[in-house]
Amino acid sequence: METIVLRTFDTTFSASILLTRLQAEGIQGYLRDDYNIGASPLLSNASGGVKLEIDVRDAERAIVLMEEFQEDYLRLAICPVCRHTEFTHVTNLLEPNIVVKILSKMFGKKAPLNIKSTYKCGHCNYESETLPSNFVGQNEDTITDDRTD
Ligand SMILES: [Zn+2]
Repeated sequence: METIVLRTFDTTFSASILLTRLQAEGIQGYLRDDYNIGASPLLSNASGGVKLEIDVRDAERAIVLMEEFQEDYLRLAICPVCRHTEFTHVTNLLEPNIVVKILSKMFGKKAPLNIKSTYKCGHCNYESETLPSNFVGQNEDTITDDRTD
């Protein structure tokens, strides 16, 4: 089967979450380089991270699904500051850090893109590198005024 790299991840953990969700939708795939990274997290950037590979014929569907997963996730996240659910995903391109540059040279690889990804509340501008852990429906106490049914 001909495969493509759908996405790369810093950790095996987040790669596995996406793989599991894709498999639930009938898309087969596997993780590559995950063993090395587990053993040496410092090298994860230099080696390009954990790669989630899928059959090239599933690529279009997988990309649509990934966007849906992301939207679901953002729609349900509750801002810890203002309690609204208006998170958006923001990505910024940064210069690779010096450690990554040196390791890339040592291993003869091109330094990967260093993308900083944050989540921002559209209501109060609260910003975080990780999504808050409170979600609508997770706990009855966290449900506020915007429930009308
Ligand atoms: Zn907020």
